Amino acid sequence: MSLIVRPGILDIAAYVPGDHSLPGEGPIHRMASNEGALGASPDAVEAYRTLAAELHRYPDGATKSLRVALGREHNIDPEQIVCGAGSDDVLQLLVRAYAGPGDDVLYSQHGFLVYPIAAKAVGATPVAAPETDLRTDVDALLKAVTPRTRICFVANPNNPTGSYVTHDELKRLRAGLPENVLLVIDAAYAEYVDVPDYETGLDMVRGADNVVMTRTFSKIFGLAALRLGWAYCPPAIADVLNRIRGPFNVPAPAQAAGVAALADRGHLAKAKAHNDYWLPWFTQRMRALGLHPYPSVANFVLVKFPADPKLNAEAALKFLNAQRILPRRVAAYGLPDCLRITIAEESAVKACADALEAFVKGAATQ
Ligand SMILES: *Cc1c(COP(=O)(O)O)cnc(C)c1O
Repeated sequence: MSLIVRPGILDIAAYVPGDHSLPGEGPIHRMASNEGALGASPDAVEAYRTLAAELHRYPDGATKSLRVALGREHNIDPEQIVCGAGSDDVLQLLVRAYAGPGDDVLYSQHGFLVYPIAAKAVGATPVAAPETDLRTDVDALLKAVTPRTRICFVANPNNPTGSYVTHDELKRLRAGLPENVLLVIDAAYAEYVDVPDYETGLDMVRGADNVVMTRTFSKIFGLAALRLGWAYCPPAIADVLNRIRGPFNVPAPAQAAGVAALADRGHLAKAKAHNDYWLPWFTQRMRALGLHPYPSVANFVLVKFPADPKLNAEAALKFLNAQRILPRRVAAYGLPDCLRITIAEESAVKACADALEAFVKGAATQ
């Protein structure tokens, strides 16, 4: 007799994070994980340090002060906020609570890989709706709904494409979904977005029974190492998540750093301004090289490379790695001809643009 793994789990191709290191010595330009370009707020770092003297204490299991701070910031009821060890934690809890064997979990073709992984982990079936031009297609999602559908995930903006769904489209999706399907709006990059027809989805949770919005401190707040995220939920869903989450799922240093990061508006504004400048700058450089950057409203750009083996994504990756630049390969997202490049610190963005220029020019003279 041997152990029996639950159905679905061995079908999971484990999530492969962006590369973190390269062989050899010297500094690396990390552009693989969409981490905040300016790092964490100094106030958050200080709050984290202060907690070093308290490592023997359990954290506040209710994450009260952070939820109150988030409630004040977003003008929402803290009782409807559930925090997690990264928004990843919250996304997994939602799947565990609302899907199981025989159920479908719906997401968009090039959507975030955590959704199908979480679905398989509970024995549910991930169902990908086709995209048009690497954009979430609301009609395709609605068409893919069956009586088995339990959850519909939309990352908005989406990773790895950088595209977004307009507020009107999102409302149309919500209106078209049956009431027994949970719509999860994953707004991990919300703080970066500037376009007028975008909303985080927060307004859609108000008054709804079947809509949740998730957020993270891993991106613009620069706290990826601490693992901190949250969900804004209808009261009944918050109640469900609070029953199944780990009783101390958010470490105390993460809670304290989150409160401090939220209060440091200056740092947030700087991080936003940095992205506002370098995102179009980098996109334009890629276009000028004849590469194809997909329009992005987040802190990364998906760049499509030509099929020519001298110029393709694999060759570009090798070239960049040789210059100690780490972009993200996205073949696992069904995009083998693309690389996803984070708008990291200024020196990295410039180095990457220069390197790709040398790469393209070098290939032309070969
Ligand atoms: C980075 C990212 C997250 C955040 O994950 P954390 O677990 O909070 O670090 C969530 N959703 C998407 C689409 C992301 O790209």
